[in-house]
Amino acid sequence: MKAINQYLNLAVFLSVLGLCNGYSQQLIDQKFVVLLDPGHGGSDSGACSLTGTMEKDIVLQVVNQMLNIQRDYPSSSLELLTTRQEDTLLKLGVRSQMAIDQNVDFFMSIHCNYAASKNAQGIEVFTYWSPSKVGKISILYAFGLVQGMSRHLDWPSRGVKFANFKVLRDLDKTVPSVLVELGFLSHPEEGILLAKPETIRDIAQGLYYMLNQYSKL
Ligand SMILES: [Zn+2]
Repeated sequence: MKAINQYLNLAVFLSVLGLCNGYSQQLIDQKFVVLLDPGHGGSDSGACSLTGTMEKDIVLQVVNQMLNIQRDYPSSSLELLTTRQEDTLLKLGVRSQMAIDQNVDFFMSIHCNYAASKNAQGIEVFTYWSPSKVGKISILYAFGLVQGMSRHLDWPSRGVKFANFKVLRDLDKTVPSVLVELGFLSHPEEGILLAKPETIRDIAQGLYYMLNQYSKL
């Protein structure tokens, strides 16, 4: 709720740029389909918090919570899919190919951050730099997500960054895509918060709310 003005601003911004018209038109009779991608899994645990909580488990819980929220809104214009619902490891190419094969409208990979410095904290969103229409939409979605989640959780925003990550590069001309780093498992406070069920629920609610706003653009 805190970020509602921001989404309205984003909608206006997208309209002014003429970026959401095509998407809105093609979504009149269909849902805005988002493929969620909880990072890592199986033998790849990702980063680990100071108390031993593994990134692969946190991001899977976030996604499963988002799928639970979806069940409460069956008539929503948002439809969430996921690359994995269990503790399994998928190759990066398989994740991006799922987005292409399922012809989704948006791909969002979800991770937790880690740094050598214990002072690093906050949320950041990565996207792949591309001058294509898909690339521009990715950047706008990324800005909305990082600002919205920062306000929703009251955690610092580290902004939008460009990265040559395979899952993003694979989709640069086909599917708007971002990689969200929820917070730092290496930070003494954020790392503990990220492992708490109430924080995971809060993150899931924030992400669901923002994607639901995007589904209405
Ligand atoms: Zn990760």
